[in-house]
Amino acid sequence: MNLISVPAFRDNYIWLLSNKEKQCAIVDPGEASPVIEALAKYQLSPKAILLTHHHNDHVGGVKQLAKRYPEIIIYGPQETEQCGITHTIQSGDTISALGSNFSVFSVPGHTLGHVAYYTHPYLFCGDTLFSAGCGRIFEGTPKQMFESINKIMLLPDDTLICCAHEYTLSNLEFAHQLWPEDIAIKDYLVKVRQVRGKGHSTVPTTLKLERTINLFLRYHDIDLQRKLSINTDITEDWQIFAQLRDLKDHY
Ligand SMILES: [Zn+2]
Repeated sequence: MNLISVPAFRDNYIWLLSNKEKQCAIVDPGEASPVIEALAKYQLSPKAILLTHHHNDHVGGVKQLAKRYPEIIIYGPQETEQCGITHTIQSGDTISALGSNFSVFSVPGHTLGHVAYYTHPYLFCGDTLFSAGCGRIFEGTPKQMFESINKIMLLPDDTLICCAHEYTLSNLEFAHQLWPEDIAIKDYLVKVRQVRGKGHSTVPTTLKLERTINLFLRYHDIDLQRKLSINTDITEDWQIFAQLRDLKDHY
């Protein structure tokens, strides 16, 4: 399989995953024109669209693509039913596309119906997990988002996190300000400044790396908990996670 990221809008990525026969799946096409250009450039034949959630910067290009490629199969959760999907999927489903199986699991929090698609080693997780951060909680609760992130943490270290935004640098700046002593975050911030300075992308990232540099996967770290000056009412892991998310929201 071959993975291509197509930049869209200011900081979105639309993912194209293709097989040897150059058939491809398009993940979260918020706009159609950069996808159409990329399909022509790489001579790919689009077979499926996978939608993670209903926000316009993930679904805005669907109708135009469906018009241009009438045979294309469009998968999405119930919350995307108005966006032109042909197949409604739900958690636990397995999709067969490009000769591979994609497992679907629900990751509510950013939106209530948000799903992720996984075909080893690729994870398309929309706005749930970002490099060095996680999505804002618009519709769900912090506890739901925490549980969604924990589902992702069960995947193997070599999982490629194909998230939908380039937020890595600002996420790391927040993390470094909160926890300046942490060497992994500090070192990775230096590296990401260089990568972004050259205009390159920092994703996909690996789950192995995220386990070391992403605060939202490190809520169990005692040093981090000390930094948060956790009040004594907080006893549950999800509450620590919620406090981190709250701090980031007000950063
Ligand atoms: Zn979103």
